[in-house]
Amino acid sequence: MINFTVGPVQSSEEICRIGAEQVPYFRTSEFSSLMKENEKLILQFAKADEKSKAIFLTGSGTAAMEATVINLLTSKDKVLIINGGSFGQRFVNICSVHNIPYTEIKLERGKDISEDQLKEYEGKNYTALLVNVHETSTGVHYDINLISEFCKRNNLLFIVDAISSFLADELDVSKLQIDVMITSSQKALACPPGISILVISEKAEKLIYENDPHSLYLDLKDALKNAERGQTPFTPAVGILIQINARLKEIEHKGGIEKEIEKTAELAEDFRKKIKGLPFEIESDSLSNAVTPIHPITNSAYKIFEILKDEYGIWVCPNGGDMSDYMFRVGHIGNLTKEDNSKLVDAFLDLQKRGII
Ligand SMILES: *Cc1c(COP(=O)(O)O)cnc(C)c1O
Repeated sequence: MINFTVGPVQSSEEICRIGAEQVPYFRTSEFSSLMKENEKLILQFAKADEKSKAIFLTGSGTAAMEATVINLLTSKDKVLIINGGSFGQRFVNICSVHNIPYTEIKLERGKDISEDQLKEYEGKNYTALLVNVHETSTGVHYDINLISEFCKRNNLLFIVDAISSFLADELDVSKLQIDVMITSSQKALACPPGISILVISEKAEKLIYENDPHSLYLDLKDALKNAERGQTPFTPAVGILIQINARLKEIEHKGGIEKEIEKTAELAEDFRKKIKGLPFEIESDSLSNAVTPIHPITNSAYKIFEILKDEYGIWVCPNGGDMSDYMFRVGHIGNLTKEDNSKLVDAFLDLQKRGII
């Protein structure tokens, strides 16, 4: 099986080997130092400043999205949400459940946000902005510099879901003045799902201590206090945190974040070059290195996904809902190679020969 989905993705052999080991007890100095090292490397790769902190939550990416909303925003806020697909919609749903006043900036499928669109919201007393820097459902990587400048001018709390973009695209948390950056274990970190991570600014930390979320498990004050000694309030997904540690150290040994992004960019470029000439359209204003969204012109995207899975042992990533016949996505994150790309392209060529695409 080759897995080109966008998460969970393929892990390296070392990560799989750790997954086969016994899970140790965690209230120990050894685990505390491992967690401190995880925090240090995450902050380093996010390019966060020295006053920033990282919080590790047990739960998938959505847990960190919801924790961010309930710990940093209240019914007194006036929030802008950039909504270009199902992950933007998830922020809308979370704010709605928790009665946070919001305005949606709805984008058409495949479209990046423009300066003109943002102008309408300039100087309107908004207090925070929520965005998924890479809207994974449609494969659009937003112009984060444009959004960051808008937040700086309007003094907005800047919350960025970078779950599918962190480690795949450039992202400088301190330069962009991001107050909360969210990521999770099963995307470019290439570990099993179950851990989500928040990188928070000093300003965000203050807000967390001022607010009182109606949640026990997701109250970040406890997480912050425990993190000072490299611990978590409750039993975390210990095994995954150990795998994350190995993966972060592997990235560092192989040349750091720049090298990692370069590797993913090369894989994406290689794939996009190899599919030229196939009856596919890529409808995205701005691509992330993490994913290529493909609209097959001649057959249902879902049908192609199923045939690749059942007859070729290759998994691309189907889209859900009303996009399922329209689009599938090919991921470039996780333990993949250019040879894997060639195998997928060979399968496409075979489908073409068979008259399926
Ligand atoms: C994968 C992903 C998530 C997280 O979803 P979970 O299923 O909760 O892990 C959130 N936002 C984006 C942009 C994603 O790609």
